Amino acid sequence: MSRVLPPTPSALLALRRRVTLAASTTQPGQGDNPEAAPVSAAEARAAAATGAAHPAVARGVRTLGGRLEALTIPRRAADPHDVVIDVEFCGLCHSDVHAARGEWGNRVLPLVPGHEIVGRVAAVGSAVTAHAVGDRVGVGVVVASCRECDACLRGQEMFCEAGSVGTYGAWDRFHAERTQGGYATSVVVAEDFVLRVPGSLDPAAVAPLLCAGITTYSPLRKAGVGPGDRVAVAGLGGLGHLAVKLAVAMGAEVTVVTTNPAKAADAAALGASGVLLSTDAGAMAAAAGRFHVVVDAIAAEHDVNVLLRALRPGGSLLQVGLPPAGVEEVDASLLVRNGLSLVGSKIGGIPETQEMLDFCAEHGVGTSIELVDAEGLDEAWDRMVAGDVRYRFVLDAATLA
Ligand code: ZN
Ligand code: ZN
Repeated sequence: MSRVLPPTPSALLALRRRVTLAASTTQPGQGDNPEAAPVSAAEARAAAATGAAHPAVARGVRTLGGRLEALTIPRRAADPHDVVIDVEFCGLCHSDVHAARGEWGNRVLPLVPGHEIVGRVAAVGSAVTAHAVGDRVGVGVVVASCRECDACLRGQEMFCEAGSVGTYGAWDRFHAERTQGGYATSVVVAEDFVLRVPGSLDPAAVAPLLCAGITTYSPLRKAGVGPGDRVAVAGLGGLGHLAVKLAVAMGAEVTVVTTNPAKAADAAALGASGVLLSTDAGAMAAAAGRFHVVVDAIAAEHDVNVLLRALRPGGSLLQVGLPPAGVEEVDASLLVRNGLSLVGSKIGGIPETQEMLDFCAEHGVGTSIELVDAEGLDEAWDRMVAGDVRYRFVLDAATLA
């Protein structure tokens, strides 16, 4: 399915050079991330277009759990393989909140979140061939990896054996700097981690596809979902609503499994053909053995065996939600007796993310979003944590000042 060609010999040579460079730099200790002298957003965007080292106007936290503050951060000069992106939109992901509130451990501060980035190419390094100034592009969860290990060569950069580099809050050993995310006027990213955004898609609605979209697309594809398949999606939030849209676009008959009967109208609007109430024991018993695939996008604790019982023999449960205590105890006899698969999935590699964007363009799939201004980010985070969004927030980066 993938239309991405293997790297050319010259590209591989360039990558080796970069890996050698990386080996010579070591990560400093838990120091503060640098900030730059304040500038206006217009000045920052103009400076980004030069391709030189420049400031970016951003929103980030200076203390874990603190409010988002206006920051000015330094961005590196484009090296020969870099793309400078003028950010238009950045999706708000639960991961941003977990990281900024210290729920996933300590972080070097200040921290600028954001790993669902869409914008225009403002400048390119001298050796960049895949993208040109003015192109609309995207950046997801990973911005670098070793490019040489088995996982990287298979296009599974998120499983890089040497460790992939996250888009924010990670040590980028290839550039000897700590990454800062897309709640900012610009980002600088190596061209092989920059995706093409098809022109037919609404750019704001593309942003969450780069995390939530690929998270649901990848396992649905691996499960071979297509016409004639019955797919159940459990949990109708940011991930779940995209799972419904994508599975419908793949040709499947989709049912939403929810505890909330009020979601029926939304499920129908997203293309689902029915709703199953997981609290209705009779309805769940009647649905036993009905589905080829169940997507479990529930972020709260729940009994996964209820969903396993709804699978046909040989069916697969795709685990994409992350309940706080992990998945509840699995009834192994259910797996064995019915030959079921329990499949975990984490985002997707760069080639598959491009394939997902092209698929969404072909089928007119976009995220259902609510656009927010820079000043409304804190409130949007609170609402996201409360589950009060249909279905993802996206920052309008034009409001950064
Ligand atoms: Zn995310
Ligand atoms: Zn690797």
